Amino acid sequence: RWAYVNGRYLPHAQATVHVEDRGFQFADGVYEVVTILDGRFADLDGHMERLGRSLAELRMDWPAAPRVVERILRELARRNGLVNGSIYLQITRGVAPRDFKFPANAKPTLVMTAKRVAAFAKPEQLEQGVAVITVPDIRWGRRDIKTVGLLAPVLAKQQAAESGAYEAWLVDSDGTVTEGSSSNAWIVTGAGTLVTRPPSHAILNGITRLSLLRLAAERGIPVEERPFTVEEALSAREAFVSSAGTFALPVTRIDGRPVGDGKPGAVTMALRQAYLDYAKGSTAA
Ligand code: PLP
Repeated sequence: RWAYVNGRYLPHAQATVHVEDRGFQFADGVYEVVTILDGRFADLDGHMERLGRSLAELRMDWPAAPRVVERILRELARRNGLVNGSIYLQITRGVAPRDFKFPANAKPTLVMTAKRVAAFAKPEQLEQGVAVITVPDIRWGRRDIKTVGLLAPVLAKQQAAESGAYEAWLVDSDGTVTEGSSSNAWIVTGAGTLVTRPPSHAILNGITRLSLLRLAAERGIPVEERPFTVEEALSAREAFVSSAGTFALPVTRIDGRPVGDGKPGAVTMALRQAYLDYAKGSTAA
């Protein structure tokens, strides 16, 4: 396994950064996870575009021109022989003596790691769906920026795992679901309308989310971008989560109660297939 650190491809075990990297001390950095499906990058342009947006929001520079970063991504996938898997890419403000203010001349740190994935979903997750629990959303006010400050999602996911659930849905103080700890949240109403929260500072605008919205529109599925409550999700016909690597994954239990008939929904599974077909037709890795 190979990783990339600031200009060098290194064996995974030797891939390290300095203790005064601002990512380590302040979570002063951003990241992306790009999936490779059957040898092709899924939604690579979307992920690169969001990376640029995250960097700009934090007033950070690209460590190299975007097309150079993209070239490194492809090279790392190649060196790891990735056919199905993902590349994790992180950029921090760099190494500098610890001080909250931006350092004057730090160079951004760019690291990438590669992961092989045997199966993006277990058969039982597709046949039975997954369970989610709900927890209060205690994150900061700029969840639209994909930063490495992930402590609240770490605690939420751990709580989900300890409850035997796959994911935690985060609930705002007004009772609406913002999103999952590492996914966007969706429901399909009794009338067959797809509902997911609109982009704002309250959620990360998933790249998979954006593609699913487009694929739904192309198939004539009615869509409403609006917040929904846990109660509405429980009375919905279907629910699912989306992210790079899970695509669309059916949610059949929320806090131990069944969604709809308790089985993966038809709209969910059709959208999952639509995404897989779309991604397999995209740029070669
Ligand atoms: N929301 C959050 C909080 C996430 O961390 C993620 C991805 O990890 C997503 C949504 C889904 O985004 P994407 O589809 O771009 O992977």
